[in-house]
Amino acid sequence: MAAADVAEPTAPVVPTAPDGLARILVRLPNWLGDVVMAAPAVAAIHRARPDAHLTAQVKAPFMPLAAQIDGIQGVLPVGNDRSLWQLRQRGRELREKQFDAAVVFPRSERAAIAPRRAGIPVRVGYGGSRAFTHGVTKARAFRSAHRTSWFGLLAKAFDAEIELPWGFGVDDTTRQAAERLLLAHGRDTSKPLVVFEPGASYGAAKCWPAESFGRLAARLLEMGADVATVGLAGTRPIEEVIASFAGRPLIHLAGRTPDLTALMGVLSLADLVVSNDTGPMHVAAALGRPTLALFGASDPVVSAPSGPGPARVLYDPEPCSPCFLRLCPVVGHPCLAKIGVARVFRHARDMLDAAAG
Ligand code: SF4
Repeated sequence: MAAADVAEPTAPVVPTAPDGLARILVRLPNWLGDVVMAAPAVAAIHRARPDAHLTAQVKAPFMPLAAQIDGIQGVLPVGNDRSLWQLRQRGRELREKQFDAAVVFPRSERAAIAPRRAGIPVRVGYGGSRAFTHGVTKARAFRSAHRTSWFGLLAKAFDAEIELPWGFGVDDTTRQAAERLLLAHGRDTSKPLVVFEPGASYGAAKCWPAESFGRLAARLLEMGADVATVGLAGTRPIEEVIASFAGRPLIHLAGRTPDLTALMGVLSLADLVVSNDTGPMHVAAALGRPTLALFGASDPVVSAPSGPGPARVLYDPEPCSPCFLRLCPVVGHPCLAKIGVARVFRHARDMLDAAAG
């Protein structure tokens, strides 16, 4: 094919939001990891419009994280709105807050209904529909880039560029509460702490086998580390499998971190986090904790951990990778099953050695 026949990729079209926006609503994404990956874009908007009052709107469990993003001065919950009536009601509530602009990160017109109903005059989002006054278009190529770049397109509407890495820290109260929680479940503070996130809210297709986590735990315990497992309460059966292969109980915290603040506290204390591609993986990276991520069904080009600390990704794609399915239809789940325990252990030991200096 002649070079002239190769179509040039189209550059995204990003309309510029007007000056003088005093109150900006930032409707954050609906997944925890995406909230982390949208944070650099929000921080960029704050740098570009330092005098604007930024209010985040996000699912209620993620509000503690939204409050950590630079420039966010207020946080509102997103309701579990299913009907058009509920969305209109949400719009009436937003109208009272008199926002000048809304930045809508979810790529769904549904997320834009309430800001539009609220009569927010400037609405920035993805696509050319009339839901947005400033819709970013021709951005298809960015869908396969890292999610921080995709979200960064919305910051460009404010003439702002994202700066990486983005990170945050927890306060002393959060850290001390996490120390108490760990101690209550058997933590020995003379040992390095490795935290596993062995589940995935998205689906089992993202999960390295529990048996492998268990064999990894056995080697880490033998090396003299403490191993804790975190996750939602639904991760408890996975914890039990891990403990059975580890040969002894671990620090079981799945379902025992009462909220995201508590989870952030535990992650902040980790010397290493070993995780599937999950929200806690992104939180750990943003906290600057050494992060070893195991990918199979999803694409590390799009969602590798991005933060101020060291991160490694283990990914041996199959012809079907990345599938982005929730459940694997292939016998043996090869994309993740073939990532061997010995290899993960070598990386874990290297990262712990590096963290110890
Ligand atoms: S083996 Fe293939 S189909 Fe199964 S989860 Fe991995 S990438 Fe998806």
